[in-house]
Amino acid sequence: MPWVRTDAGVMHVKTSKRLNLCHCRRFADLKCDWPTEDGGTCSKPVCTYCARHVGPDVDYCPFHRGDPPMTEEQQKTAGEKAAAEAAKILGVKR
Ligand SMILES: [Zn+2]
Ligand SMILES: [Zn+2]
Repeated sequence: MPWVRTDAGVMHVKTSKRLNLCHCRRFADLKCDWPTEDGGTCSKPVCTYCARHVGPDVDYCPFHRGDPPMTEEQQKTAGEKAAAEAAKILGVKR
């Protein structure tokens, strides 16, 4: 029988259904929105206590810390920005 953690303590749930549980065994209200390499999301169920809220409707599970990996496009843009910034500081024309 699956057990879940609630604010009142540990509770056993009589169900044969697959429960959406966070790794801490609370009911998971959210899903990890961490972008995966195949273009999807991690989608790990995560509760409101464990989720890292990073934006409207964007939450990450505890297994995904830091910033999500940048896509090639984003890396290029970031590189361009850094180069432009450096050129400005050094006062050189690009
Ligand atoms: Zn949790
Ligand atoms: Zn995740």
